Amino acid sequence: MSIYGENWGIIGHEWAVELLANRLESGRASHAYLFTGPSQIGKATLALRFAQAMNCTTPGAGPSPCGKCRACDLIGRGIYPDVQVVSAEGKSIKIEAIRELQQSLSLRPYEARYRVAILLDMQLATNHAADALLKTLEEPPASTRLLLTSDASESLLETIVSRCQVIPFRPVSANTLTEALRHNYGLYEAESEMLSALSGGRPGWAISAIEDPDILKNRAEIMNGLLAVLNEKRVGRFNYSEEITRHTDLPLILEIWQSWWRDVLLLVEGSPVTPVNIDHREELESLSFQVTSEEARRALLAVRRTIDALEKNANTRLALDVMLLEMPYL
Ligand SMILES: [Zn+2]
Repeated sequence: MSIYGENWGIIGHEWAVELLANRLESGRASHAYLFTGPSQIGKATLALRFAQAMNCTTPGAGPSPCGKCRACDLIGRGIYPDVQVVSAEGKSIKIEAIRELQQSLSLRPYEARYRVAILLDMQLATNHAADALLKTLEEPPASTRLLLTSDASESLLETIVSRCQVIPFRPVSANTLTEALRHNYGLYEAESEMLSALSGGRPGWAISAIEDPDILKNRAEIMNGLLAVLNEKRVGRFNYSEEITRHTDLPLILEIWQSWWRDVLLLVEGSPVTPVNIDHREELESLSFQVTSEEARRALLAVRRTIDALEKNANTRLALDVMLLEMPYL
């Protein structure tokens, strides 16, 4: 555990906390940071904590946020005038949002040491918005810090990435996450182990599953649908395809299916790695005796191809039809 871990209240990512705290302490913080990694892994939370740490007013608390002073409190609640959060409106971050941000960054801070702009999911920025932001990154106003998050640095313009210090977030280890869930939420060991595995090392996902029981219920329904369709012939598969084509949770369905076939493949090949879907361990094991590793691999590739195709705006129904026909028939 990092010496700063307690105050920052971040689960995992110790090295990132340490790096930011050290930079702050030595007065060598970069003008811009880019946090990359999957959703709900902790990027936005760490960005907020860093903004708090930069502006905390409690003597002696630095380089960590005290969490209690007026600045820490208001930043944590998203209502501090000198810390602005820009995120997607609808499906994209638009140029108007960037212009508005630039307008306010051009003013002196109201009360903060640093004006901080947190730009969440920059991969959703339109080309115009990204170009506009580039100007601010090239010549940041004094006492301004920019904190960007993105799913991957490859999703952004290289010119943006090269102006930021990139901090890649990796999945939090199962032990760290399990322990934190037990400690912070009073869960039983089995429960915290299950959530930690299902989350794929993303604390934000685990916490939202604790706070909203519908997430697990919804997931169980999706799992049942996935398992049932393997017993179907062509017609049954096309019906299922039609059913999920318009499903608002389609990305989630594909993500679960991807983790499912990865688990099956690991089991068929006798890998010692713990499966993600440990709440369906029996079904996983039974399936791993019914399919060959070729079949599991083909199914996994079919899901990945579908995810790629849909990101490129392929015809959803057609992509799902093709994918479902690639699944093993039980
Ligand atoms: Zn404070």
